[in-house]
Amino acid sequence: NPVYLNGRYLPVEEAHISVLDRGFLFGDGVYEVIPAYRGRLFEFEAHMARLDNSLAAVLIGNPHSLDEWRGILVPLLKGGTDQYVYLQITRGAAPKRDHLFPENIPPTVFAMSSPIPPYPERDTGIRAVCLEDSRWDNCHVKAITLLANVLLRQEASERGGAEAILVKNGFVTEGSSSNVFAVLNGVLVTPPLSRDILPGITRAVILKICRENHVSCREQSMTIDDLKQADEIWIASSVREVVPVVDLDGRAVGGGEPGPAWQQVNRLFQAYKQSVS
Ligand code: PLP
Repeated sequence: NPVYLNGRYLPVEEAHISVLDRGFLFGDGVYEVIPAYRGRLFEFEAHMARLDNSLAAVLIGNPHSLDEWRGILVPLLKGGTDQYVYLQITRGAAPKRDHLFPENIPPTVFAMSSPIPPYPERDTGIRAVCLEDSRWDNCHVKAITLLANVLLRQEASERGGAEAILVKNGFVTEGSSSNVFAVLNGVLVTPPLSRDILPGITRAVILKICRENHVSCREQSMTIDDLKQADEIWIASSVREVVPVVDLDGRAVGGGEPGPAWQQVNRLFQAYKQSVS
């Protein structure tokens, strides 16, 4: 499966970047992950709008128009299978290592596709652990600088969790690579958009399908104590979709099984996926 690098499609073994690339040296870049179901990019415009915002936030010019991006990514999709596209843009390779932005250096653009692996835990639920959110102040930017997320996810895994649910000043922000939803006193709640969370595309799709199907859902802050008393907890991301959390820090959530709200919204989400792809 070829990958895309700076205008060319080539085998991954032949795709090389400079050791002076600012992505490598500084983590100076942004990325997107876009699912493609049956060969069609899912919520493409929303992903590209978020990419635009991420690029603007880190002062990298968007090197391509929406149509150009589509033209670059579509050839990476093999046949009609379910895949996701990983797209990364860095500030490029400067002649020397210097924190200051280089002048007149083109960004590095890299994209590849991978099959979406089966995820049987979606139906059975996962365990999650709460951890202190140790990330930076610009979590709304989809930056490649993911060291804190990597360490948190690893710590969660070592404690038997498939996701870390992050807590900042007593409030739930999001997962290490997902957004969080909870059913609190019968109402579906997700934290409001802020600089503390990534504006997840899956989160936005869930909010949209809830609105369209008269499932009440509120964007509202929740504390760690709210979460501990939730009837249901879910995480949501492009790669994992909508996943019930059945165990939080070793204690069963709700009945310790995927709850009725998840059953309903997951059904709606799967139907939405089918309808647009
Ligand atoms: N929050 C973080 C920190 C993420 O890394 C991700 C995706 O990987 C999400 C939320 C979910 O975003 P999306 O639904 O757009 O994949």
